[in-house]
Amino acid sequence: MAIAQSVFDIAFGEASKHGAAKIRKIKLSIGEFSGAVKDSLDFAFEVLKKDTPASNAEIEIEVIKLKAVCGECGEVECRLGDLKLSCQICGCELNIIAGRDMTVDYIDLDEGE
Ligand SMILES: [Zn+2]
Repeated sequence: MAIAQSVFDIAFGEASKHGAAKIRKIKLSIGEFSGAVKDSLDFAFEVLKKDTPASNAEIEIEVIKLKAVCGECGEVECRLGDLKLSCQICGCELNIIAGRDMTVDYIDLDEGE
């Protein structure tokens, strides 16, 4: 719920900055490894958007696969739950480069032209 609320805080901030009465769409990406779960977020948005400028907004959530880099072999995709995050080919430690963050990609405002 806290994640959904902070996304809405960002969206409402943008809306008031641009004098927009309504939010048409919010697109965000969540990493598999970010701790955010798409189904819970979908649910939280449905609950939170009632009686707000986002009440009719479409909310699109893209899940970003966990991706890491092995210093030896290059880019590899990891399975979630592979907590050791070692390379399956050479066993080296991996550095996570994607799938860890949550980002708001864009907010589509209805500026009521
Ligand atoms: Zn490797």
